[in-house]
Amino acid sequence: MNIIRLSIPTPFYVGDVNVYLIKEDPLTLIDVGPKTKEAAAALREKLAKHGVKFSDIRRIVLTHAHEDHCGLAKSIRDEAKDAEILIHDWETGHLFGRLAHDEHRELMLRSGVPEPVFKEMQALYAQVSLLTDSLEDGGFSPLHDEMELEFATGSLKVLHTPGHTPGSCSFAREANRTLICGDCVLKRITPNPILSPDPVDPTKRFRSLAEYLVSLAKLRSYSPTLAYGGHGEPVTDFDEIFHRYVRAIDERQKRIVSLVGGEGTTAFDAAKRLFPDSFDHDVHRFLAISEAIAHLDYAESEGKIAVETSGGIEYYRPL
Ligand SMILES: [Zn+2]
Ligand SMILES: [Zn+2]
Repeated sequence: MNIIRLSIPTPFYVGDVNVYLIKEDPLTLIDVGPKTKEAAAALREKLAKHGVKFSDIRRIVLTHAHEDHCGLAKSIRDEAKDAEILIHDWETGHLFGRLAHDEHRELMLRSGVPEPVFKEMQALYAQVSLLTDSLEDGGFSPLHDEMELEFATGSLKVLHTPGHTPGSCSFAREANRTLICGDCVLKRITPNPILSPDPVDPTKRFRSLAEYLVSLAKLRSYSPTLAYGGHGEPVTDFDEIFHRYVRAIDERQKRIVSLVGGEGTTAFDAAKRLFPDSFDHDVHRFLAISEAIAHLDYAESEGKIAVETSGGIEYYRPL
């Protein structure tokens, strides 16, 4: 199967994003890049080198709904009239508008984020969300676990791999143990579990880190020899990356447990202590809070700390 990696610029700190052209019938893109002039021009030019125009694309498959990955989906479909957009339905609707909906506000306030800080983050997010078209109004087909994306030469198996986001999906070419895994596995960085409402019960938080560990083990069960991530070069040493992630998660678990004090610590306080340097930069603040919550939830579910709610705010305490 002809899988071609195209590196596309983004305005985000993470740098370039990977778009994958599956040059088989039907012509398919996995992820598309953010909705910026630069990204659209770069994608157009790189596809042209492979003899492909936007209007030739028949299928757009999205690993998840972050702006750097999905922003251009509707623009490309507009040019490629009947192209189908596929995404897991846990990535759309209220889950997609990160920070835009009441569920997000509730989750943030419960984590000890002061209302004015939440308002600042929400205003910043409104800017970021301009880098994609809304995926709220339908017009896409759902991806689900174990479904096969058929091509003339074979198929890619859809793997639902929640964690980074609830509806994150990966794709396996079992014949040659190749994976395309979005932000689930990245060469140089440990993926962040991003705070999301639970798709089944939006009044609850999605248990992102616990889900992520299950997803990682699921990907590992394919014994991949090649894993294409959402950013950076492909991973050829999956097992090493897997162990590195597990070690990093374990170290962070120890650190977060040590930050929880007898007087009760909110996720917001823990995030400030965990990431004192990046805490003032707005974009990183949401990521820092997401990371702290994911680790506190996981530590609590593992019986390492306790949680109590008082005045609508959750306080973590040592056991
Ligand atoms: Zn992402
Ligand atoms: Zn990404």
